Amino acid sequence: MINLVLFGPPGSGKGTQAHKLVKKYHLIHISTGDLFRHEIGSQTPLGIQAKAFIAKGELVPDEVTIGMLRNKVEAHPGAKGFIFDGFPRTIPQAEALDRLLAEKETAVSGLIALQVDDEEIVKRIKLRGETSGRADDSNESIIRNRIDVYKSETAPVFDYYVQQGKGHSVDGIGSVAQIFERLSAVIDRL
Ligand code: AMP
Repeated sequence: MINLVLFGPPGSGKGTQAHKLVKKYHLIHISTGDLFRHEIGSQTPLGIQAKAFIAKGELVPDEVTIGMLRNKVEAHPGAKGFIFDGFPRTIPQAEALDRLLAEKETAVSGLIALQVDDEEIVKRIKLRGETSGRADDSNESIIRNRIDVYKSETAPVFDYYVQQGKGHSVDGIGSVAQIFERLSAVIDRL
């Protein structure tokens, strides 16, 4: 199995690249952000719980997020592999992912971080907010809070995988096609 973690700050292009990568490598795409938005749209208890955190640009608590991720992975027993987009975002989530994959006698193959600077992120997310309909994309202070949360809670996940010899990063500035090539080059060497 190939299990990829596509990593990087909000607005770094993870979703766009994940959609292209799943086609090339025939993996199952799991975006916890998309899953939460689906749950919110369907007004499920999980969605109602997650909504307030997302609206503020905070992380949804680990136990909720990990439970949802586990259900999604277990819904695809025959998968060739997964691409995790927006997960793990905390060290406990990374540890839970490692345990879950170990139960399936597999592991994270590699984590690839898309590197994009803060001002470019704010610009991109504001632009996305014009069409995404996402409240968390439309307010600069919420966007900046998401970046702060990324630096304090999520960035350590990169070091966690570097310590396992699995952390990689690519320049996230360029055309979609250029960035896709950079990611493919890393994946093909995993
Ligand atoms: P995203 O679409 O990945 O930018 O996620 C949108 C929002 O959903 C985030 O700002 C968080 O509030 C929440 N979220 C998504 N993934 C996670 C996660 N792995 N852990 C906690 N909260 C998450």
